[in-house]
Order: sequence, then structure tokens, then C-alpha cells
Amino acid sequence: MSRFVCIHGHFYQPLREDPWLEEVGFQETALPYHDWNERIATECYLPNAYARRLDGRGFIINIINNYEWINFNFGPTLLCWLEKHKPEILNKIIQADKKSCLRFNGHGNAIAQAYNHIIMPLADTQDKITQIKWGIETFKYFFKRPPQGMWLPETAVDNETLVLMAKEGIKFTILSPRQALKIRPISSESTIWCEVNEHTLDITQPYRCYPNKNVAIDIFFYHGPLSHGIAFGNLLHSGEVFAKQIENAFFKDGIIALATDGETFGHHWKFGEMALAYVIEYFIHHPEIKLTNFSYFLSKFPPKYEVVIKENTSWSCAHGIRRWKEDCGCSTGLHPGWHQRWRKPLRDAFNWLREKVYNFFRERANNFFYNPWAAR
Ligand SMILES: [Zn+2]
Ligand SMILES: [Zn+2]
Repeated sequence: MSRFVCIHGHFYQPLREDPWLEEVGFQETALPYHDWNERIATECYLPNAYARRLDGRGFIINIINNYEWINFNFGPTLLCWLEKHKPEILNKIIQADKKSCLRFNGHGNAIAQAYNHIIMPLADTQDKITQIKWGIETFKYFFKRPPQGMWLPETAVDNETLVLMAKEGIKFTILSPRQALKIRPISSESTIWCEVNEHTLDITQPYRCYPNKNVAIDIFFYHGPLSHGIAFGNLLHSGEVFAKQIENAFFKDGIIALATDGETFGHHWKFGEMALAYVIEYFIHHPEIKLTNFSYFLSKFPPKYEVVIKENTSWSCAHGIRRWKEDCGCSTGLHPGWHQRWRKPLRDAFNWLREKVYNFFRERANNFFYNPWAAR
């Protein structure tokens, strides 16, 4: 084995279309752009397709399509928006995946995402299946190949979600290092489990997870401090610092994976796409550390260890997944006095509505479909 780095960008925007007009309305807060989709496309999705590399005098020495060199997922609904409004950007993204397939022996950079951005462990079984199937079908429509990996919104996970993903042919996902519970070598049922936490887990290798007896799915755990440094620290301030930090993170052979919201590169962090391009070029020419994507790495180095995950956890709520159903206490501190007490009644209302709609669907759909759930 040698040393590999994989940078994953999770690109997503919530649906902003007016449900009646199916168009995004004018959003004053996004000025000088018409709406936030337009603004983020201009600040992030576009510049990452043409990221500039400058010399010391500020002259352009290279232009890099970052999507060719990072692992990424675009939310299905965002892909649909791009198709309609920014086809040239979408084309660069699809071409990037094609090129990565050629470079990596058929293993592309793009992975799928559950269709919407729902917190999967909070969904019921039928909704989970729908989210996974729709995510896969949208992926195939755009990338013209089946996905190997799937991103889980907020990396929120439970075993049922993993089982259903594996059954649909998904081979791997990416989680935060806090979401691993215990590990042991594969195929050694007598071996005792070793409890792990974010500090003790060896994230330089993928793990095989058996969410039930019959299926397996592999899991990469991203590098916590580095990923956090991109999103919330100053890592993108300088491409050189960013590259050095990745280099220094290697204490042995294997993979260092970074995962963050893709919008960090350019939207949350202005010129972040240029820092990323610097890092990409740095590792393209690196004598020891190679850029890779998850699928390709997995094809070369299948897991040697097994993992059990901490169910009902996510990358962004220290309280598991309570942030999306009650007043968990998560807060940025920006708005003193702000709380989330409204979340429980809202979640309860959604669940109530879901049951109502299901009952209606169950009663009526049989009149129109042989198999209503397959039709969905
Ligand atoms: Zn997200
Ligand atoms: Zn929380």
C-alpha cells in the first residue's frame, strides 16, 4: 500500500422552487443575484469547474476542473436545477466524472445521495427505500452508470438505512469518525471487539459493516480535524497550508479522507476553490501521496476490519439526530435566546401527516396500480 488522499465535496441546496410555479422566486437576501441558487452557482459550482491557479504575480498559470480530482456528490434536486438553469456547469461535472472513470479504471468520482436531504434514521422504512431508489435513479440519469457509493444527508445513519442501501447495490458510504462504535478483524468471529472513538479509530482504512447478517456495506471515516479545518477553520486561507496539513496527517500508509460541504469551496469561503485547486495540483505532482476516489481505493484495498456503527448519529449534531426532532441544544451561539422547541411539534405534525397520506394512498392506489409501492 501507499499513501492516498481523497477530498469529498457534498454539494447540496434545499429546494427553493415555488410549489405552484416550479420556479425559484426572487430572494432579496441573495442580491445582487436573483436567488440563492444563482448566487451559490456563481460563487461555487461554476468556479470549481474552472479553478484558477495563479503565479506569484497573479497571472493565471493553469485552470483546473476541481470535480475531476475530488470525490463528490450533488443532491439530486440540485442536479435537476442545474440541468434546467446551468447546463454548462452540469456538463463540466458529468465530464469530470467521465474523466475520473477513465483515470481510475471505471471508478468515478461521483457518488449518489439519498434523493432529498432527509434525516434517514427518522424516516420510516418505505420512505427510506424511496429515498435510496430515487437517489440511484437520478444518479443513473445524469451520470449514465450505476453509483457505487451514496452520501447520507448530515451523515445521519442507522442500520436499517445501511441494509436498504446495500440491498440496492450501494457499496459504501462516508461517515464521521465519531460514528464508529467498535471494530475487529474481518472473519474472526471469536475475536473480541475493540471499542473506538474519534481519537482511537484508525481512519486510514475503510471498514466493512454488517448491518444485519445477510448484507455488507463498506464505510470510510473522514479525517475529523482536517475536515473541520476546511469547514470552520482557516485551512482554505492558504492552499500551501492546506496541502501541508494533509501531508502531515499521514502517520502511516493508507487513505486520508476529507469530507465537507462542497459550498465551502467558494461560497462559504471566497476563493476556496483556488485553495482546493492548489492542493489538487500539489498532490498530482507529489512523489508519495496520490489523489484517489473512494470507489477506486476500495477496489484496490478492500477492508480488513469490520465495524459496528453508532446508530442514530450524524456529523453535525452532538446529540445524535435529536436536532431534527426536538430541542437538542445545538446552537451556533449567534442568536442568544434562540431555541428549537418548535422542532418536536413540527416533526410530530409531519409524522402525523405522513400516516394520513399513507392511509389515503393505501386505500386508493390499489385502484390504479398492480403494485402501488413499486409504482412510487
Ligand atoms: Zn448536506
Ligand atoms: Zn444537537
